[in-house]
Amino acid sequence: MSTFKTVRGMRDFLPKEANMMNFITEAARRTARLYGYDEIITPVVESYELLAAKAGEEVRLRMYAFKDLGNRAVALRPEFTPSVARLVATVLKNEPKPIRIFCTGSLYRYDEPQRGRFREFWQSDFELIGSDRPEADAEVLMLTDDLMHAAGLKNCMFKVGHVGILRGVMSQEGLEEKTQNSIMQLMDKKEYAEALNLLGTAGASEKCTQTIGRLVRIRGAKISETLKKMREYIENYYKAAAALENLTEILKLVKNSGSEISLIVDAGFARGLEYYTGMIYEVNVPELDVALGGGGRYDKLVELFGGEPTPAVGVAHGTDRIMLATHEQNVSSSEWNENRIMVIPVKEELAAKALEIVRMLRKANLCVEVEVMRRKINKALEDADRRRMSYAVIVGEKELKVGSVAVRNLTKREQKIVKIKDIVEELKG
Ligand code: AMP
Repeated sequence: MSTFKTVRGMRDFLPKEANMMNFITEAARRTARLYGYDEIITPVVESYELLAAKAGEEVRLRMYAFKDLGNRAVALRPEFTPSVARLVATVLKNEPKPIRIFCTGSLYRYDEPQRGRFREFWQSDFELIGSDRPEADAEVLMLTDDLMHAAGLKNCMFKVGHVGILRGVMSQEGLEEKTQNSIMQLMDKKEYAEALNLLGTAGASEKCTQTIGRLVRIRGAKISETLKKMREYIENYYKAAAALENLTEILKLVKNSGSEISLIVDAGFARGLEYYTGMIYEVNVPELDVALGGGGRYDKLVELFGGEPTPAVGVAHGTDRIMLATHEQNVSSSEWNENRIMVIPVKEELAAKALEIVRMLRKANLCVEVEVMRRKINKALEDADRRRMSYAVIVGEKELKVGSVAVRNLTKREQKIVKIKDIVEELKG
């Protein structure tokens, strides 16, 4: 039989990486608690129809879709938002608004594997449902910034746009939503020339193509200056102008809150998912050319799934991409420093006594491993050293006779005899 390896696009996370993944997920969970987002757990398998409804071609074509044994068309979730919108349209429909929801887990997309892009990946997802106010958009931007800091990252840069600006121009010119979607897809891939060509062939006016052509070239970190430039180009497009005012308000709130988010405004910014209706954003670090997270406003999705018209805004952060960024920026997880203790009986007759001590230590919330290889004491200590454990508790006959054991501090290389009843205090101290 040939040797097995992981399926293309899938990975194993060995302890060091798994530890970091957990650390980042915990940072997200802590952020959720600080902002009042309640955690829920949704299924990995959902109906194909639900997931495909507004995913956008890019994601739709890359879904792991199949018929289950009951002949149902299903898929592995490529994102969390449809599941949350499904809940809000059904089970949670009578919940008072706003609803703040947090979830985390694995997602599946048949992407071309490369650095930071896999077919199985992890996200922490935040959805704020029931508000169409700019405060809600400002909240998700700010929580992403807090989460990046909680994960230990520096120099995060936000790119912010608003789909209502480009779509506002196109819809005022009478372009159908389907055509708009295709144009936004091309823009998402930064294929601006192709997008402008398509505008022409779809029957957009010269003025429309010109306006969009100008808009997609505007981006800048000087916020008011950039917004002003955009305003000049869309003067007569009332929907686009309203979208721009909305973006202006959101960014004003963020700035006036004293938040130090670094951001650029990008008028030609589009995101692959079709359900966005308002502000959209991504967050990056200079060391990586892929985004660590992305989100935006989606005011029509809950309604599309049969719920009441419900405005919403949300964001998903890529846990494994954040891990890649922490690696690039040499961030270490403090959780690795947890004291680990090895308990070693000096001979096999003392194994039960060692286990009794181990149970006592674990009850006191200490992380303990017991020697299970029956190695000589020196070999076991060498192993504990190699694995950077903090203490060894050596259970020997002579000490036991007076109710004691030897406690060896492996960092300081000191050893002392401690009464069994006092070891917890000794190890915690
Ligand atoms: P999206 O909504 O497609 O922008 O995805 C949100 C976030 O999920 C991205 O910013 C990434 O951090 C992460 N993500 C999306 N696709 C992948 C992938 N194929 N591999 C790893 N992370 C991904």
